[in-house]
Amino acid sequence: MPLEGGPTRSTPTWPTGASTVVGVIGDPIAHSLSPLLHNAAFDALGLDWVSVAFAVSAGSTADALTGMRALGIAGLSVTMPHKESAFAAVDDTTEVARHLGAVNCVSWRDGVLVGDSTDGEGFLAALRRSVGFEPDAKRCLVIGAGGAARAVTLALAAAGAAEVVVLNRTAARAEAAATLAGPVGRVGSGADVATAELVVQATPIGMRRAGQRASDELPVDADALHAGQVVADLVYHPLETPLLAAATARGAVAVGGLGMLVHQAALALERWTGRVVPVEAMWAAAEAHRPR
Ligand code: NAP
Repeated sequence: MPLEGGPTRSTPTWPTGASTVVGVIGDPIAHSLSPLLHNAAFDALGLDWVSVAFAVSAGSTADALTGMRALGIAGLSVTMPHKESAFAAVDDTTEVARHLGAVNCVSWRDGVLVGDSTDGEGFLAALRRSVGFEPDAKRCLVIGAGGAARAVTLALAAAGAAEVVVLNRTAARAEAAATLAGPVGRVGSGADVATAELVVQATPIGMRRAGQRASDELPVDADALHAGQVVADLVYHPLETPLLAAATARGAVAVGGLGMLVHQAALALERWTGRVVPVEAMWAAAEAHRPR
């Protein structure tokens, strides 16, 4: 098992035989900003650590974690299609990961691999940092019921939201996601958009795909958005999605998805290094290198 904190280096340099290795597994993975975010933090901390992306195909999650054990990799971020299978392949899980049945971060604790999910906590940290929003006693609405929506729903309820309403194309999945919020969760309809204080867009709607033109699709009726609301989109390519543009035009406060990406990565690094992570350096790297 790697030493917590690892050796340090005074100036950023190439990895050496003494460098501590972390990484991200996924497929596809070449587009991932995670190594960039991790390495920006290591450089700012002066740590002799390096992060790399591993292309791991579906069905090979357990093999990848066996490799992590054998190679002494100090931490792994986990992205699609491995979040659920990593949950099954780690030695232990956190309570949040058990609620979600998914893992986006694998760390060492006392010689065993622990799976956690930092997406929800990262989302809340990004909201707090960018617009000072606290979910406590707020009416929140989440659009989508996939992995990201579920993590956000759970986190909002845990942070004391007055209600967490879930809107989703497939009703059964909306029901399952709303259940994660316990007594404050319910399935909603388009009519709930206008009364929400926080609207979270957690589907791929509005995302620009490689080689394609920008999308102008909206997940809800934009005329329901208004001043006094915070509208957060988890999509970060483009930074301003059609929903965020519509929200801004109607006086709402718009929050893009890059912050969640940065903060969930920062939380993973905290678990791996035991250090206070320089989030600002990670933000700067993300903004400089995000897909255009
Ligand atoms: P996922 O598990 O595949 O879930 C996708 C959700 O979107 C499902 O609820 C699906 O509805 C819904 N959906 C997909 N296409 C739709 C459409 N055309 N119309 C209506 N609903 C649609 O995906 P995920 O992992 O949750 O990711 C969702 C989005 O969040 C992605 O764009 C991802 O890039 C982004 N994300 C961002 C961050 C960040 O750090 N900023 C982190 C995680 C994810 P059904 O249930 O009906 O299929």
